[in-house]
Amino acid sequence: MRVVIVGGGPGGYEAALVAADLGAEVTVVNDEGLGGHCVLWDCVPSKTLLTSAQAFNTLETAPSLGVHFEGMPGQQVPRYEVDLPTIMRRVRDLALAQSEDITKRVLAAGVRLVLGRGRVVGPNAVEVRPSGDGGGRGPERLEGDAILLATGSDPRRMDTAPTDGEVILSSQDVYRLRQVPEHLVVVGAGATGAEYATAFLRFGARVTFVVSRDRILPTQDEDAALVIEDVFERRGLETIKNARAAKVERVGDRGVVHLEDGRTVEGSHVLLTIGQVPQTTGLGLEEMGIQTHDHGAIVVDGVSRTSVPSIYAAGDVTSKLMLASVAAGQGRTAMWHLLGQAVAPLRWDAVSATIFTDPQIATVGLSEQRAAETGIEVEVDTLPLAGNARAKMSNRPDGFVKLLARPGSGTIAGGAVVASYASDLIAPISAACFNRLTASQLSQAFQTYPSFAGSIQECARRLAVRVQGSYRY
Ligand SMILES: Cc1cc2nc3c(=O)[nH]c(=O)nc-3n(C[C@H](O)[C@H](O)[C@H](O)COP(=O)(O)OP(=O)(O)OC[C@H]3O[C@@H](n4cnc5c(N)ncnc54)[C@H](O)[C@@H]3O)c2cc1C
Repeated sequence: MRVVIVGGGPGGYEAALVAADLGAEVTVVNDEGLGGHCVLWDCVPSKTLLTSAQAFNTLETAPSLGVHFEGMPGQQVPRYEVDLPTIMRRVRDLALAQSEDITKRVLAAGVRLVLGRGRVVGPNAVEVRPSGDGGGRGPERLEGDAILLATGSDPRRMDTAPTDGEVILSSQDVYRLRQVPEHLVVVGAGATGAEYATAFLRFGARVTFVVSRDRILPTQDEDAALVIEDVFERRGLETIKNARAAKVERVGDRGVVHLEDGRTVEGSHVLLTIGQVPQTTGLGLEEMGIQTHDHGAIVVDGVSRTSVPSIYAAGDVTSKLMLASVAAGQGRTAMWHLLGQAVAPLRWDAVSATIFTDPQIATVGLSEQRAAETGIEVEVDTLPLAGNARAKMSNRPDGFVKLLARPGSGTIAGGAVVASYASDLIAPISAACFNRLTASQLSQAFQTYPSFAGSIQECARRLAVRVQGSYRY
């Protein structure tokens, strides 16, 4: 089998590794370094940036733990300097190093890499236009028994809000900043906006959030969003709610957001985080008759196959759930299916994700809101972290553990954790949800004492008693 993969993000490179492992001859066409937007622009850079912001947690809590810094008697937070050029250099270096590691792995697996932009020109053919001047290379035609499209997504743009990379920024422009903005106006209150707001608030910027609904993170667990709103407020973030941006313009060296209701918000910088759109420009979908949704995403079935049987699609370009783990899962599933392996459709009911605010919000499976909307019966238990010994010692009491179980069986259907390292703490709940363990089974697995994870065990125990009558079976 020859497989041609267009796009080298997690959807593409993870598929390439699986296909090569199963003996296929694999070519990956990508227009930038391997790892795609995920590694070069989105997940890895934003989380590296946030790691620098996390240093402030230590500074903030140190005095209350009895550790003082010289020259700052009595100060809650010591005087500090944020060296943004160094932070941004670290972000870039780390992203490039990660991309290089992935490239080594993929090359070691025997995959051929072609740098350029791919376009589908037949059910079994891709034409590649080399990037840049291509070193004198002309377009190359690649033939494959199957094609996988994993071209990802780009930041959504507004015609009335043209970004200039200096004052009006997209999420990818953030990394050009060399000074902490004096006043950053963030338009769009989803995960990306909340993460950048977290970082720049910590770096000392004044941050204003322009939110189209009545709360930030409108698609997230409401209790979780409220914790983050509260933390943001305590740290001085200003939120303008029920406010839709109609236009954003640069006036001199400042950015002005014009709201639909006539109000304006001005800042030294404006960051647009209004979502992502599937990247399908020039991909040849129409000519090939590959079916797309109204919003442009490629339609796929349960094994990631498009309406053309020899062509699969994975990741953000399918707009299912825009997450690196989902992209990788779809890519692997596509290759298992193509190469004759037993394959089960992705478990959409057990996907876990994290918003790396501070504290973080990690969720898995069914949410309380979704259960209410769809009429799925669930029992819910929520345990605040404030009573957790480890949280008290660390002086990090904000957050909670929430578990959802099906009545009768007690099977864990979902959960949410709001805590400093929620991205890691969600792991046992994710495993329970995926493997359909009961609240009682989850509660019986040992957890370290004292630990934040102890709250998961305690919450599971309370839920098991309520739903199953006891936590002992
Ligand atoms: C700011 C931000 C932070 C995020 N953080 C997280 C996170 O922490 N965790 C998480 O799970 N998800 C996160 N996401 C989402 C995550 O980045 C995406 O879900 C993931 O990158 C999707 O992977 P992919 O393989 O579909 O596409 P991508 O990673 O976008 O890779 C696609 C690649 O294909 C290339 N390409 C496009 N068209 C062509 C073509 N015609 N020919 C050749 N190459 C082409 C693109 O340039 C790109 O390199 C974040 C997103 C954003 C915007």
